[in-house]
Amino acid sequence: MIPLATPNLCGNEARYLQECVETTFVSTVGPFVNRFEAMVAGAAGTEQAVATASGTAGLHLALTAVGVGHGDLVVMPALTFVATANAAAQCGARPWLLDVDRESWTLDPARLQQVFARETTVRDGVLVHAATGARVAAVVPVYTLGTPADMDAIVEIAGTYGVPVVADAAAALGATYRGRPVGRLGAALSMFSFNGNKTVTAGGGGAVTGSSPELLGLARHLSTTARVGADYDHDRSGFNYRLTNLQAAVGCAQMENLDRLVAAKRRIRARYDESFADLPGVSPFPQPGWAESACWFSGFVLDPGRAEGMAALREAWRAASIDVRPFWKPMHLQAPYRDSPRGELPVSDDIWRRIVTLPCSTHLSGDEQAYVIDTIRRSLQG
Ligand SMILES: *Cc1c(COP(=O)(O)O)cnc(C)c1O
Repeated sequence: MIPLATPNLCGNEARYLQECVETTFVSTVGPFVNRFEAMVAGAAGTEQAVATASGTAGLHLALTAVGVGHGDLVVMPALTFVATANAAAQCGARPWLLDVDRESWTLDPARLQQVFARETTVRDGVLVHAATGARVAAVVPVYTLGTPADMDAIVEIAGTYGVPVVADAAAALGATYRGRPVGRLGAALSMFSFNGNKTVTAGGGGAVTGSSPELLGLARHLSTTARVGADYDHDRSGFNYRLTNLQAAVGCAQMENLDRLVAAKRRIRARYDESFADLPGVSPFPQPGWAESACWFSGFVLDPGRAEGMAALREAWRAASIDVRPFWKPMHLQAPYRDSPRGELPVSDDIWRRIVTLPCSTHLSGDEQAYVIDTIRRSLQG
């Protein structure tokens, strides 16, 4: 089977891991953790980063740091990975699910503006969702497939209503938006994931970046059990969310190759797009003009007329040893979030059933990609 996306451990991973064992720095303190944070901050275009045990932990931490708490609502796109909604739930909050824009598959600022104008009121200086009475505590745009959302518009709307923005930038390290690096798009905090299926991995892990030293300091404090001083004093109920030096060792080795790995992802995406450009019944993944995507995943979208045959096509391609997969099932169709407040979701409802993701490991060989392209062209032309 040609896999969807596997880690590309082509650098100093083994050497750095060996160093951890030899120095006994295998836990949450160690030089690789500090180095990893500096490398992530550099790549995101920020001063600092806080490394976390996972991307989900990073998002939970970021939402807690901006004040999301019990009974609140967190605005997010319905089309996202379940971790975005889970992080809100872990704060005791509920997602408020809005639609994505068809041109980018990211949170649609026009929808955001519309629901804020029509469905919220201000009570005692706090933005409240009129129907439920819940406070609107954060807006979480998701950088789908490594493509930043339209952040200038989203940040402006959220700012007008006084709601902090926390970006789920899980797979977007290396992307830019209107020429700016991905950590500097106006979100109070941004989360990156280093899970095994991301372009750059630490085995597992995450990081939170931002421009406010106070907010990042709070995130760091919360991630280390909110411990004060060297004794067993804690001033809040915190988390044990720190990344280990072992994971950071892998992360550092991967970060040394970030540019190369992202370039490989973009090359793979471009080749699929070119190869399927004349193929009837399919269209490419969106590439909005405002972003240079990190192209985390590649694939195509089946035309509505072909969507019925999706399951059979997928089975045929998997039988040909190609690891073809669907993409995220939206949150309003997931058991824990079925009853979450939501806007109209025509794009999310339509698009997710027609998305096909294709093998896109950064070490996918030219011959392997040619085989994938050839197999798919033959079955769709027939
Ligand atoms: C991968 C991913 C996450 C979760 O990150 P983990 O490190 O696996 O916890 C969250 N949101 C999105 C959009 C992701 O792609």
